[in-house]
Amino acid sequence: MSGEFNLIDRYFSHRQENRSDVQLALGDDCALLTVPTGYQLAVSTDTVVLGVHFLADANPADIAYKALMSNISDLAAMGATPAWLSMAISMPKFAQEVENNATLGTDDWFTENWLEAFCDSMFTLANQHNLQLIGGDTTNGPLTITFTIQGFVPSGQAMTRSGAKLGDWLYVSGNLGDSQAGLEVILDPSKSNRPHAQYLVQQHFRAQSRINFSQSLRGLASSCIDISDGLTSDLLHILKRSNVSARLNIDALPVSIQSCDFYGSMAQAQQAALTSGEEYELCFTVPDQYKTEVDKLEATSNENFAKAYCIGRIIAHPELTQQPEIQLYLDDKLLNSNNSSKLLTGFDHFKS
Ligand code: ADP
Ligand code: MG
Repeated sequence: MSGEFNLIDRYFSHRQENRSDVQLALGDDCALLTVPTGYQLAVSTDTVVLGVHFLADANPADIAYKALMSNISDLAAMGATPAWLSMAISMPKFAQEVENNATLGTDDWFTENWLEAFCDSMFTLANQHNLQLIGGDTTNGPLTITFTIQGFVPSGQAMTRSGAKLGDWLYVSGNLGDSQAGLEVILDPSKSNRPHAQYLVQQHFRAQSRINFSQSLRGLASSCIDISDGLTSDLLHILKRSNVSARLNIDALPVSIQSCDFYGSMAQAQQAALTSGEEYELCFTVPDQYKTEVDKLEATSNENFAKAYCIGRIIAHPELTQQPEIQLYLDDKLLNSNNSSKLLTGFDHFKS
C-alpha cells in the first residue's frame, strides 16, 4: 500500500515497552525472539472479517478488544502466558474528507480515526497482558484482521482437549450467560428495557480473560477448553478428543444476578448459560484426587472474580450409541432427549 511505511510507523511501531525476550521487533524482515529454557511456545491464530464478524458501523475499540481477547483466551485454555503478537491487516484506503455532502463511497466509514481507535484499544488490552506486537503485514483490500498470538507454557504442562478420563469432575471458571443476554439486547432493542440490559451488553463486548486462573489449573486439570461457541458445543470438543461422555447438571451452572434478573428466573438464566457464546470462561475436567484443591482456587489480580464451579462429571458413552454425548440433568433427573434438544438449540421457555 502506498505510504505503508508511514502508516506502520505511525500506528504500529514504538507503541509499547520492549520485552526482554524480544531482540528485534517490527522494522526488519523478521522479528528476533528468545523462548525461555524449559518452556514450549503456544501459538494461535484468529481472523476477523468485515461483514462476517463485525459490521462497518461497529465500534472499532470493541472489534479490537473482541478479536484480541479471543486469541488471548486460546492461550488461557492451554495454560500458557501471553508474550508476542503479530497482526496482518488488510484495509481499504482511508476515506478522504467528504466535502459539500459529496456522495459517500462504500468505504467512506474507514478513516484514520477508525484505525486509531482500533489500535488504542488493541494496545491497551495487549499491555494488560504484557503482550508485545512484534510484527505483521499491511495490505490494501477489504478490512480483515488476523492476529497470531504466542505464549509460553512450561514444557509438557499444556492443558489439551484430549485428557479427560472417566470419573473426572467437570468444571467451569465463572458465570455463563451474560454474553448471550447482551447479544440479545444488541439484536433486539426492545429488550433494552429489561433489568441490567446495558451492563450485559458491556459484558458481551468486554469479557475478561482467564489467563491467571488457568495458570493455577496446570498440573490439576486433565483437559481444558475456552468457551467461545457455547458451553455444550465446546464441551463436545473435549468429549470427542478424549473419547468420553459427560453428565452436566443444569442447576449447577453459575449465573450472574444480572442475568437472572434479565431472564426473569435463575432456571432460565441457567438455560441461556448452556449455549451462550463468546464467554471466554474455561471449561475443564479434574481427576477426583485434585477436586478438593481445585474447589479452593480463586483468581487474583485484575480479572473478574473466577473460581472453579463443579457442573458435572465425565462418564462412559451411553450404551446404545457408544458416541460422545452430553447428558443433561435437572434436579438429579436425566432429561429426555426431546427436552434436551430443546435446551441445546436455545429453546426459550423450557418447562420440564
Ligand atoms: P516485508 O516487505 O519484509 O514483508 P513489510 O514492509 O511488510 O516488510 O513490513 C515492515 C515491518 O513492519 C516488518 O517488520 C513487519 O513485521 C512490520 N509490520 C507491517 N505491518 C504490520 C502490522 N500490521 N502490525 C505490526 N507490524 C507490522
Ligand atoms: Mg510484508
